[in-house]
Parts: sequence; C-alpha cells; structure tokens
Amino acid sequence: MVSDGHKPDNGRSGGGLPGNFIQDIIDEDRRAGRYGGRVHTRFPPEPNGYLHIGHAKAIVVDFGIAQANGGLCNLRFDDTNPSKEDPEYVEAIQRDIRWLGYDWGDRLYFASDYFEQLYQYAEELIKRGKAYVCDLSPEEIREYRGTLTEPGRESPYRNRSVEENLDLFRRMRAGEFPDGSRVLRAKIDMRSPNINMRDPVLYRIQHTAHHRTGDTWCIYPTYDFAHPLSDAIEGVTHSLCTLEFEDHRPLYNWLLEALEIPEPPKQIEFARLNLSHTVTSKRKLRQLVEEGYVRGWDDPRLPTLSGMRRRGYPPEAIRMFCEQTGVTKTNSVIHISQLEHCVREVLNRKARRVMAVLRPLKVVITNYPEGAMEEFEVENNPEDPAAGTRRVPFTREIYIERDDFLEDPPPKFFRLAPGREVRLKGAYYITCQEVVKDPDTGDVIELRCTYDPASRGGETPDGRRVKATLHWVSAAHARPAEVRLYDHLFLTEDPDEGGGFLANLNPESLKVLTGCLVEAGLEDCEPGRQFQFLRHGYFSVDPDSTQKRLVFNRIVSLKDAWAKIRGQQVKAR
Ligand code: ATP
Ligand code: MG
Repeated sequence: MVSDGHKPDNGRSGGGLPGNFIQDIIDEDRRAGRYGGRVHTRFPPEPNGYLHIGHAKAIVVDFGIAQANGGLCNLRFDDTNPSKEDPEYVEAIQRDIRWLGYDWGDRLYFASDYFEQLYQYAEELIKRGKAYVCDLSPEEIREYRGTLTEPGRESPYRNRSVEENLDLFRRMRAGEFPDGSRVLRAKIDMRSPNINMRDPVLYRIQHTAHHRTGDTWCIYPTYDFAHPLSDAIEGVTHSLCTLEFEDHRPLYNWLLEALEIPEPPKQIEFARLNLSHTVTSKRKLRQLVEEGYVRGWDDPRLPTLSGMRRRGYPPEAIRMFCEQTGVTKTNSVIHISQLEHCVREVLNRKARRVMAVLRPLKVVITNYPEGAMEEFEVENNPEDPAAGTRRVPFTREIYIERDDFLEDPPPKFFRLAPGREVRLKGAYYITCQEVVKDPDTGDVIELRCTYDPASRGGETPDGRRVKATLHWVSAAHARPAEVRLYDHLFLTEDPDEGGGFLANLNPESLKVLTGCLVEAGLEDCEPGRQFQFLRHGYFSVDPDSTQKRLVFNRIVSLKDAWAKIRGQQVKAR
C-alpha cells in the first residue's frame, strides 16, 4: 500500500509522471507563494458504476501529482445525484483504488456530507442577489437558453426580490413543491457566449431518497454548484479533471468569486485516456453487464479495474501505463497493445514459469522403465534468480501440446514428427517412433517415442543439436484445468465504428478450453496468482478455481504486438 508522500513501490527506478503542464502550473504557484506552498488534489468518482482504465488514469494523475509534490489527495464521492447511485459502487470503488496502490488516509469524503453547507452557500448567493428561484419548466429553460449562435433570453422570474427568492428556496427545501416545478439558478449572463454561464441551474427538486442522507433532502445541488464548493470546503488547491469540463471553468471560478472564497482552488483540465478495442463509457459498460454480453463488472474482458484484477493484470503495470501515456491537453486513443506491453513487462519480471499443456497429446516413452519416476530441477524465473528452482516429475507417460506434432511436417516445422528428435524442456531428448491413431476417426491419439538416457537435463555428451524444445507434463502428476482465453472485446479499434458498439463485439472474445493439464502444485495457489505458462503466455488463477477444478485466465499471450507496432513507427519516421 502506498501512502501520500511516497512514490508507488513499483519496482522501477525513476518512474512517476513525466514532466507535464500541471506540474508547471504547480511550480509557478509555489514560486508565487500561492496556497502557502500546499498541493492538495482530490479524486471525485460518482458512485454510479465501477472504475475503469480511464479512471485509473485520473487516479494516477490526482494521487501522483500530490505525491510528487509532498501533498495530499482526497477521495471524494461526488454523490449529488441520488437516482443513479448505489452503496455497492462506493465499496467497489474504494477496493479498486486501494488495489491500484493508492491511499487517501483518513480523507474519505462525500459531497452529500456537505449538503447543509452547500445549502447555506446557496442562501448566501441569493442574499447577494446572485441567484434566483425560477419557475420555468425544464423545457422552457432549455428553450430560453439559446444556442451556440443565438443568445439566451432572461427568465421572467429573474428579478424576484431577495426575500421572495429566500422564501421560495426555503419552501423548496421544505418539500412544498413537486419535482421539476422550480429550480435555483445563478444570475450571471443570458448573453454569454459560454452557454454554461447563461444562468445555470444550481438546485433541482427531486423527491428521491439518497443512499446516505435518506429523506433529509428533496432538493439536490448540481455538479457545477457542488464541485467548486466541495473543493473549497476540503482545502483543495488544484482540482484536476478532464477536458470536457474546460467550458465549465468560468462557472467554477464565478461561484468561488461570488462567495468570496479566499485562496480559491483552481480547476485544471487534462485529456481523457481512451483505449482502442474497448469502451470506457460507464453507460456502455453498464449495458454490456446488464444485458449479459459479459459475465459481470469483473469480467476479465472489461477494462474495469475489477475486470483487469480478475484477469491478472498487475496494478503496477496499470500505473506504468497511465504514467507512460503522460498528461496532455489533447484527447487521443491509445492502442490497447501498449497496455498489454506494460503487463508483459511487469509479469516477465515477476511471474513464475511453469509448464501447462492446453491441448494434450499423449506420449509414451517406450524405453523408459514402467513405474519409474525422476525429478528435474528447473528454474522458476530466468529473469529473477531469487525466484529459485523447483523439481518437476518425469515419468514414462507424458503429455505434449497437440500442435507440437505434425505427421507430415512442412519444411519450416521443426517440432516433433515421425522419426524426428526434439528436446523435452529440462528433461531428455526423445525421438518419435510410432504414431497411434483412432481407428474410426483417423485422429492421432498417441505417440510412441524413445528417449536417450545420455541427454539427461537436456544436453547430450556428443553435442548433437535439435531444433525444438517442447514443454510437457507427466501424466501421473499433471492436474486437469480449464483455461479461459480472452481476446479484445471489440473487433474494431473504435467500437463505435459503423453501427452501434454492440455490432462490433468480438464473438470470439472468450474461448474456454477444458481438458488442459498443468503442473502439479498449481492447485495450491490463491486466486489472482500469475504464472507464465511456457510458450503460451501469462495466466492467472481465476477466483472460480478450486482444488478439484482449476481455472486459469490468459492475461496476455507472449507475443508483444506493441513492440512491433512501435518498431514500425520508429522505422516509418
Ligand atoms: P459520468 O459520465 O458518469 O460522470 P465519468 O467517467 O466522468 O462518467 P466520474 O465518476 O465522474 O465518471 O469520474 C471521476 C473522475 O475520473 C473525473 O474526474 C473524470 O474526469 C475522471 N475520468 C473519467 N473517465 C476518464 C478517462 N477516460 N480518462 C481520464 N480521466 C477520466
Ligand atoms: Mg463525471
């Protein structure tokens, strides 16, 4: 767990966010002596869905900037809209942020905790002649607002007296009026070129119970009203958000100025993170979950933090990815293989290598004594000497990968074939002597091979070379397993291309292989544990896994498409 003021311990030297424009603003604020040199940020999720990779970016920026400056970052639930929010999300969001490696200390806040204070600020605005109660219907408000090219019109209720406004606003709070009958609006400028400044709504009547305040309130503040004031209440200095809020900044500043907040926080916008081949809209994610296109919010194909955790992505890889992609002012789409590249980089260092046969083909070693067993010592991770070695049992009957044998091999196929010799990883050289077929189907069901006792440990005294090394498991020791292979959830880089996003779903995003065989010992591993299955990729133990029925998720294959794409980009320059 990382706490404020410390860099995440992600096993890298340097690291962190590269130099960026937000840091420049902070440096300038410090030079000018603003905020007494303090840096205080917040991450403000709305508890109406699960966090996804886009939120991870915001978390890395919000907490990372605070950490890099010896500052603090609050977790604030932006729970001002009671109809869409749920305590289930509040729990999940906290779990996900902790997992990602960030800690808000004792600064867990809810915008709903400020409802009374926010209400008092609203009365203050009314008293200052800067807000009024408007009786236009929502449709009329929209119509009076004007368009980008036409100025708006003033509401006929705009010039109510302070007394009348206070009386009406208090009666709104007291529950005298039905939903939608009245709102509180800021009195700014109906002719402003910025539509957000055309007397925006600050409070709505909504007779809906709130997950934290129950029936205490029937008026709720809008995001635009609650956000700057919540920042001010918490002593936030730099309120970092995404670019779509840029046009709201004048309103953010107007409210703080109208209420004469000393040393007001400043809003700074950065570009959203978008990822190819996936969706990061909460609405679309919810639709995928609720309509059963995936198995739940933690489906390993989703870019949710809970999905990526279940898949086996290490949190440090997600942090590395968010840091690498930097903090910028222009929205862009990052290729998903860049994220996968980070996952491989971390797992290459920390995942233990094991042997697993996903599509088994039986091999009987005819000259190996029946009932005999010997153990070979193999490295757990050549990238990490501290990972040590383990002993792998070898017997007369083993399984190899079905695709590692071809009866009639093409010229470039160097693996096993009739009469050919190959190396079994860490064990012996074997030569295929006979192919046994199912008499009905003609399928190859067994190979009968001989081994060379002089090749123990994978080398021969005569230095004879073979062109392939195969992984294998001992039939008597291997454990049966189910392996879930994932591919991108969408076939197109942009899921919205062409028709709707549902039309671009990849029908083969999940393939389940049963009857796989893995090395003994894996049945004792806790869910989430990651391995490299030699020659196949990185896999994790799924929470569905039990001692009797092992289940693994493929995290990523070994092939690094991003390294290739990047290589091509470099060449193209
Ligand atoms: P909604 O439309 O429901 O508000 P949201 O994605 O903005 O969706 P929030 O819970 O409000 O969800 O987001 C919390 C924070 O995460 C906000 O500051 C938001 O700007 C940031 N955030 C959300 N998506 C991304 C993204 N793709 N890249 C970077 N930051 C993001
Ligand atoms: Mg939002």
